[in-house]
Amino acid sequence: MSTDTIVTHPGGFVAGREYSNNGPALPITNPGTGHVFAEVPGGTEADVDAAVQAAREALDEWSALAVSKRGEILAAAAHHVEEHIDELVPLLTREQGKTLRDSRIEITKAIDTLMHYAGLSKALRGAHAPNLDPGVDGTVLRRPLGVVGAIVPWNFPTTLLSNKLAPAVVAGNTVVAKPAGTTPLTTLRYAELLAEGGLPAGVFNVVTGSGSVTGTALVKHPLVRKIAFTGSTPVGEQIMALAARGTKRVTLELGGSDPMIICDDADVAAAASAASMGRFYNCGQACLAIKRVYVFDAVADEVIEQITAKAKRLKVGRGDAEGSQMGPLHTAVQRDEVAGQVQRTLDVGGTLTAGGGPPEDPELGGGFFYMPTVVVDPPHDAPMATEEVFGPALPIWRVSGLDEAIERANASQFGLGSSVWTRDLHRARQAAERIEAGYTWINSRTKVYDELPFGGWKSSGYGKEHGEEAFDFYTETKSVVIRSGP
Ligand code: NDP
Repeated sequence: MSTDTIVTHPGGFVAGREYSNNGPALPITNPGTGHVFAEVPGGTEADVDAAVQAAREALDEWSALAVSKRGEILAAAAHHVEEHIDELVPLLTREQGKTLRDSRIEITKAIDTLMHYAGLSKALRGAHAPNLDPGVDGTVLRRPLGVVGAIVPWNFPTTLLSNKLAPAVVAGNTVVAKPAGTTPLTTLRYAELLAEGGLPAGVFNVVTGSGSVTGTALVKHPLVRKIAFTGSTPVGEQIMALAARGTKRVTLELGGSDPMIICDDADVAAAASAASMGRFYNCGQACLAIKRVYVFDAVADEVIEQITAKAKRLKVGRGDAEGSQMGPLHTAVQRDEVAGQVQRTLDVGGTLTAGGGPPEDPELGGGFFYMPTVVVDPPHDAPMATEEVFGPALPIWRVSGLDEAIERANASQFGLGSSVWTRDLHRARQAAERIEAGYTWINSRTKVYDELPFGGWKSSGYGKEHGEEAFDFYTETKSVVIRSGP
């Protein structure tokens, strides 16, 4: 018997207030119990148009403000969100499934990113080229793109949104966000709080609903100048194709299958701990989770034993239960996909050393749980090697040395993150140079810094988020030539 009560939300936040979508109601499920606890109507093309028109109306006034004023307003709004974090944390856990601790970490990071770009507003400059000819100077202005569509998935609804919202609005754009159909509630409340905190009406709008209807309508809308997307590679490719009509700008943060290389001179305990945290955090549902481990033969047994022991020790439970260290997967489909990838891998080889199925605890029967899983030495063409595994299952391979490890690491369509564990500076440098990925952590793991650009190579994406570089993807430059002499 469900203890969840069904709540409803009109589904949108447009021009500074709640907005009622006109599409059919979409159920919102608590992944820890499997119960539907809310219903939110999806946005239609007309609802997307209302949100985009509101963003367009707000654009001229917003982009005319001094950049530092926009930063000041964003900082005040972010501060207001921070004051209400205790309200957002359980809401995120309820609709996403992650533990309360992970929800707090996520939302804290999302607020940090808003603050970071608010501060960076003072660094948003163009360039100056004096004396191009006698009496002639050149200036490169940065202008906002206009209305930006932000399409965000369900694994980190608030951080992945802030990564787009913060540089976009500081650069003078206005935004319409479409969260995942299964995680609209935290985003809607986030938007309300930002508005209460002083972000002017229309600068940030939200229209919820399905990707196929609401998402597609946003990408196709003629007034949307840019789409910033995080999600799967196939959908990213569809969006890029659709955005070609109208020559819209796109940034794509897509899938990953991040390799971790553990050398024979590594701090084995630290590396094993990083592998476990890097794979099982957020129930493995992160683009830059560690998804493949390559360990030198000499330390392989030790590493496998330690990672397996950690996987077995993790306390799996509902996100809101005391002491839970890993929550459920986000949906039953997601859980079945991961279970299928593990099974298809074991069918062709490899040794299961931990997990491999749902928990035995009948209390968890209704939720979408899957135990932390470790598979050792499956074939290199098995599904766990070639596909993105978006859940708590880690393959580990023994390798003969650095050359083999790098070759295996690069034998993937993805190129998002990577890590190498060694005390040898030369090896670390070689790995950083040769691994095909947008990020390489050395003796460290999976933490993305606002200070550094982040973005994938190969099928992992196009464009950068974070860093000052993010501004390049939310502005056009204009060269202005000024003749002041005779
Ligand atoms: P999707 O790529 O399908 O969804 C991401 C976002 O895009 C959601 O808001 C979704 O809306 C929207 N969307 C879906 N289709 C379209 C479309 N045609 N046009 C515009 N927007 C669209 O990812 P899923 O959530 O379905 O996850 C599937 C797989 O993708 C995962 O198993 C994982 O492998 C990968 N993934 C990777 C992520 C990463 O961070 N790298 C994040 C999430 C997923 P809606 O949810 O309403 O369909």
